[in-house]
Amino acid sequence: MNFEASRAKAIEKLNNFIQNNLSEYSKLRNFDFGPDKRSNISCLSPYITHGIISEKEVIEKSLGKFSFSKNEKFIQEVLWRTYWKGWLELRPNVWTDYLIELNNIREEFRNNQNYLKAIKGKTNIECFNTWVSELKENNYLHNHTRMWFASIWIFTLELPWQLGAEFFMQHLYDGDTASNTLGWRWVAGVQTQGKHYLASEWNIKKFTNNRFNNIKLNENAPPKVSEKTYSIIKQDFNNPVNIVDKNLLIFENNLSFEITDFQNNKFKKIYLISNKNENRSIKLSEKVVKFKSLLIEDQKQRLEVKSIDCEVIDITEIKNIENSFGLYPTVGENLDYLNSNEIKIDFLYRKLDQYSWQYCNKGFFNFKNYIPKIISTFN
Ligand SMILES: Cc1cc2nc3c(=O)[nH]c(=O)nc-3n(C[C@H](O)[C@H](O)[C@H](O)COP(=O)(O)OP(=O)(O)OC[C@H]3O[C@@H](n4cnc5c(N)ncnc54)[C@H](O)[C@@H]3O)c2cc1C
Repeated sequence: MNFEASRAKAIEKLNNFIQNNLSEYSKLRNFDFGPDKRSNISCLSPYITHGIISEKEVIEKSLGKFSFSKNEKFIQEVLWRTYWKGWLELRPNVWTDYLIELNNIREEFRNNQNYLKAIKGKTNIECFNTWVSELKENNYLHNHTRMWFASIWIFTLELPWQLGAEFFMQHLYDGDTASNTLGWRWVAGVQTQGKHYLASEWNIKKFTNNRFNNIKLNENAPPKVSEKTYSIIKQDFNNPVNIVDKNLLIFENNLSFEITDFQNNKFKKIYLISNKNENRSIKLSEKVVKFKSLLIEDQKQRLEVKSIDCEVIDITEIKNIENSFGLYPTVGENLDYLNSNEIKIDFLYRKLDQYSWQYCNKGFFNFKNYIPKIISTFN
């Protein structure tokens, strides 16, 4: 598997997938044929997470090839990300509570042998060990495998989901606060209270094309229970009326200025914000840090080609930049840094998020009904 850190490569991947593999997506998407056989899925998440390509761009291209009804499954999957984001935006305490819990659990498990064996891929579950290596080597796992992995971690290895979510964030190129935290919560059974995801031997065998055998799992564990419930915090995602003559801050989730809703606005200078491990609660692996910095560099080069004044700065330098707007970084490490350092920025929100997040108050099945409406706002 190869994720080259550039928009050009992302577009190439997108075009190739739509041209050759989208037609079979809904039939084949659940199969994990192994890291060298990934043509049944798009592998676009490392790019979409960083805004290298956008959900809108992906959906529009797919609709250029097939009608909505032929394409519905793929579009739904693409908008799962948008849904999870919106869900978390309306309940940001889920993230802050997660980090508090993680901090405590980390201490508790520092020398726990089961935990250490799990993150080294030295358990007695062969498929799990293979996935640990795959995650560290390729910085990507298939969606179904993420579900099995999380389920084995929680229900067979009996480790806290919070540590598993941290392990994913450290190694995934597509590590995303919302999709990851809520994905793990969902498997554990605390996202949709009482409903967990239990991996089973037959399912793993079938959907890995019999690559693994003799998988001994706890297939009867009850869901995890959480006392906490989160009600919606009403938020305002409005943009300022006048977006002129200021600097623009771009965080790691919007690294293609040229496709944003603000591409035609005039900014004095664009600052691309790099956030190092010192200022993150979850320390990323070296490879993930490198991937992010290459993506930032790629954006810088593309802006320079267009003669747009830009500079890469560390997040700690934001306090020195006056008079700026920021493309909204969404709930996560970058926003945490701004909040904890009391840095106030006027945020610019994407139209897609402004429109879709209003439908994230309930479950995804409700959100799904609004997908045609959401798409109709694209033009
Ligand atoms: C425990 C767990 C943790 C996860 N952590 C992350 C994460 O940190 N970052 C991340 O981007 N995704 C995460 N996912 C969602 C999903 O696994 C990946 O988005 C998907 O595997 C990416 O591969 P792809 O691009 O080939 O997907 P495709 O199947 O080709 O789908 C196309 C796009 O749709 C979106 N998408 C698909 N499935 C999901 C989903 N279940 N949730 C949200 N968006 C989805 C992605 O943007 C993806 O690129 C997680 C899922 C689970 C179960």
